[in-house]
Formats: sequence, structure tokens, C-alpha cells
Amino acid sequence: MCGIFGYVGTRINAGQLVVDGLKNLEYRGYDSWGVACKNEQGDIIVEKDIGKISTVDSRQFSQRCTQALAHTRWATHGGVTKKNAHPHLSTDRTIAVVHNGIIENYQELRDELKNKGHSFLSETDTEIIPHLIEEEMKSTEDFASAVRRACKKFKGRYALLAMHTTSQTLVAARTGSPLIVGVGYEDGPRPERGAERRVEGYFIASDIPAFMAYTRTVQYLDDGEMVVTDGKNVIFTDIENGKERPKREIEITWTVEQAQKGDFEHFMLKEIMEQKESIARAVNQDEEQILTLAEAIRNAKGTFLVACGTAGKACMASEYFFSVIAGHHVNFAPASEFKLYHHFLQPESLLIVVSQSGETADSLEAMKVAKSKGAKVLAIVNVKGSTIDREADYSLRINAGPERAVASTKALTGQLAVLMLIAYAMAGKLKNGKTLLLETSSMINDMLNPRYIERIENLAERIKTKEDLYIIGKSWNFPMALESAIKIQEVSYIHAEGFAGGELKHGPIALIEEGTPCIALMGNDEVTTDILSNTIELKARGAFTIGVAPQRNEAFDEWLKVPDAGHAQALVNIIPIQILSYFLAVKRGKDPDMPRNLAKSVTVK
Ligand code: GLU
Repeated sequence: MCGIFGYVGTRINAGQLVVDGLKNLEYRGYDSWGVACKNEQGDIIVEKDIGKISTVDSRQFSQRCTQALAHTRWATHGGVTKKNAHPHLSTDRTIAVVHNGIIENYQELRDELKNKGHSFLSETDTEIIPHLIEEEMKSTEDFASAVRRACKKFKGRYALLAMHTTSQTLVAARTGSPLIVGVGYEDGPRPERGAERRVEGYFIASDIPAFMAYTRTVQYLDDGEMVVTDGKNVIFTDIENGKERPKREIEITWTVEQAQKGDFEHFMLKEIMEQKESIARAVNQDEEQILTLAEAIRNAKGTFLVACGTAGKACMASEYFFSVIAGHHVNFAPASEFKLYHHFLQPESLLIVVSQSGETADSLEAMKVAKSKGAKVLAIVNVKGSTIDREADYSLRINAGPERAVASTKALTGQLAVLMLIAYAMAGKLKNGKTLLLETSSMINDMLNPRYIERIENLAERIKTKEDLYIIGKSWNFPMALESAIKIQEVSYIHAEGFAGGELKHGPIALIEEGTPCIALMGNDEVTTDILSNTIELKARGAFTIGVAPQRNEAFDEWLKVPDAGHAQALVNIIPIQILSYFLAVKRGKDPDMPRNLAKSVTVK
């Protein structure tokens, strides 16, 4: 959600560089963009607009400039307008700021600033920041100190990046939203072994793909910290007390290619296809660690799972895994609802937080609640070095590789695999779990062949004009029905809803009309008969039934065959739905990688 990217150093095309780099953060979701460059006269020149940064020709920012910052905005306060786009400036135009997050006490601060003579041009909360820094500059010469003092006045979650006409530095600060520093070495991202390295500049961004072309050496800014760099040196300090915070340099092992589309038209399809290998990578965990965590769950006084959106559906499915496979009770709550459960937490409780990005604001908030009660936190994340990954007591990574499409696909199956592995470990059958998941991964590899994809594409063609679609499932296929609905909604904008099959006759069946497409997710297990009966009930009311199942049945008007994966059926059943969602989006003329109103990494509450 929102992208920030800044550079200061010896490169003379900083404006063009930050605009190009920001194009690699498009996946985060945004509605407008803007850039501020300091020209040779020391003036700050701002360009901004609504719409897509991908269509902006960055050559228009090729004037000589060694210090620049840019932003893609996902509007929270104030409409999507050019005026509200960042960067925002101070009254005297000496300070430019970009910001991600929400300044909760902005109204009160704005009123105070107005009384002091500041005038505001936008409706955003962000605009108070440059004005507040300007006010602080009246009592200090030092730009970084003024930013620090301003930050101490904010309430809320934010990441901000600022520059000043007379300062050579970029100053950034974070409380809640991500910021990462890239160390630009003169010899580029792949140094010769043992060579002495000289810094040419520093990058500061919301995420690594922004500067991956220049460096893979990063330093993470933690919550409550700020960073100041003039392109030669970098200093990390505590916002509160100004004390220096030493930082390690970390090498990123992803390749640029991994973060790009390859031969696929969209990241979403590429990432769906990557499930041929990504599940096996998720399963490849340190067995000792899995056993230790299984033990921690067994001994915990209450294990709670929290997550948002798709990751939440993985957690819900795991309630069934833990029950059926390990006979153990765990509780899932959407992270945004968790606060109210804090009475159930004790120091001996365990919170499992599942997040693709590791930056989800609601999940971070839930972690805070658990920690305040002294409970331990286990994270299951995709992005190494993300806030959740670093702040948890234990962390498991699903190793899915970068997920760029907003709609999560390979991260979901990775999360399911890791959760199932822990459930098997709790049952004392870790080896069996591993074997099952690796077999499932190889069945998925076979399933994702061109003929299968084409079949689903044809089905999408048949139902693409429908405005309503329903999905049913039972047991772990129930959360997968909910996830199917999310997938279809977010990329195709068709109204889709998932239900537990048994709930149909308690309400939703009233929605079924002649030809309404209804998908039934099933396996080959003790609930198959029930869900088949529900499918027949739908058919009897005129539904166009689509069975996602290992066996054909006369209840299905259309059958999407899936392998029989036993306890891992949820992992295989969701895949044809991911493909169907993708084709429904494309055939309805929508961009599946960038659905409207959504963002990849949801860093606001
Ligand atoms: N709250 C700010 C705004 O609405 C920042 C939004 C963002 O994170 O992009 O302008």
C-alpha cells in the first residue's frame, strides 16, 4: 500500500531513477503518483498527477539532480486528486515530504499550524508534516533534528521521507509502515570477493524491488527509528531519544528475474504456475524447528491464529488441520478483530501470525496485543526481514519468492503447507505430512498443464457475463470456498460468495436462479456425500453446477478434475479457482495484477 522511494548520492539522474524504481512498487496498489527533485539551483521541483506511474516517461525527469524522492499514494484522507498526491511542501517550499500511513491527530495539529499562519493546499493528513518540520526549523538549524521533533508530535502509523532545499540529506522515519535502506556500492550489486567497496549513494524505499537494479545490500529501519543520509554516510537513530542504533548490512538473495514477469502476461498467472515448485519449497523446513514449534503449540495455554484476507483463510483451514490431523484445538480470528480477544491471552498463550508481506498493519497490531500480555508470537511469512518476521519470537518462512500480483496465490498454498506440516508434527507424524505435501506438490505440477488451463479458460468464457457466483465447501473446503470468493471478487469484480454447504438451506439458497453458476469444492473423504447432496440441492433449483472434485458426478454440469490429495485437498482445490478468477478478470477486460481499490501490502488499519 503506497510506495516510497528516494535517492541521494553521486548519480546525477536521481529524478529519473526514483520514478523508474517506483514503477517496481506498482504491485503495492496506489491511485496517484508524484516526485520531488532538487535542481542545480537548490530549488525543489515537484511533479504529480493521478493515474498510473507505469505510463509516465521518466526521461522528463532527466535534469541534473542528485537528491530526489517519489511516491505512489493510496488515498486515505482526501480524494484521489492531483492536489492530494504527494510530495507535499512546506509554506516556504523548502521542505518536501512523502508519507505512507495515517497521522491520526492531524486535525488538531493542522488547527495549531493554521493559527501560526500556515496555509494548506490539500485535504490530506500528510500535509501537516512539512509544515510542522518548517515550524521546528525555526528553533534548530539541523534538518534531521527538526524532523525528529515533528515525529514526536504524531500519533498513528507512518513511514515518511523528507528533504530540504539547503540540506544534502534525506531523512526518513518509521512507526508502523515499512522502510528499507539500500546501500549503493560503486561496484554494483555483485562485488568481486574481497574487493574494497565504496559507497556511491543511498536508496530509501518501502520495498526492495525499487532499488534492486542498483543494490542488493540492505539495512532495515525498525519501528521508532529514523535514518539520515547524505549519500556518503548513513546514521540510524531512535526517534525518541536520538541515540544511535547500529545496523547490519544484509544481502538479499532474490534475483531481479524472480521479481519480474518472464513470459507471462500477468504476474498473477506466473505466480499461479509457480505453485509447481513453491509448495515444495514451503515444505522444506528445518524439521527440528517444526517439532519445537509443534511442542510449543501443545504446551501453550491457548493457541490463536490471526491473519487478514487470504492468509486468514489459510488459518481457518488450519483449524480443521489441527483438529483432524492432531486432535488439537486452535482459534482463528481476523487480525482486525483480535483486539477484543485479549482477555483470553496469558503469558503462556501462543499467537500465530500469518502474513505474506509481513507488514500487514492489522496483524502487527494483533502482535502488539499478544506481546502486551506476555504471550509468545510465531510468524509465518513470505518476506524475510519484514517487520513481522523480525519482531516475532519465532519465524517460519514459506519461501514462495516475491509475490507481486495483488491477489495472493502461491503464498496461500505455501501458508497452508506450513500450517499442515506443523499439524502433522503435533500428531507425531511429521514425515508422513512431508511425504503427503511433496506428493501433492508433484500432483499440482502435473495438473498445471496447458490442456487443463485451456479447459478452465473455456469455462471462464462461458460464465464471464454472470453477475453472481457462489461457492460451497465443507471442512477445509469451507475456508477454501471463502477464499475462492475473495479471488473471484478481487480480480473479476463479479459478486462472489462462499458458504459452508450445510448453510445453504439456512438462507443463501434463496439467491439461486436458473443458470446461477455454483462451484462445489470437494475431496474424497467423509464429507463428500454431504457436499454432493448440497450440490444436488443447488442443481434442483436451476444452478449451473461446477464440481471441483477428484471424481465425476452427475450432479455436476461441468467437472474440473483435481487429484485426490487426502488431507491436502484444500491445496489442490483452490488452484483451478485461482486460474478461473484470472481468466474471468482478463475476459472481462480487467487487469488482474492491479485490482481497483486494493493494495498488496496493507500497511494501514
Ligand atoms: N494518509 C495519506 C494520504 O491519504 C497517505 C496515504 C498513503 O499511505 O499512500 O495522503
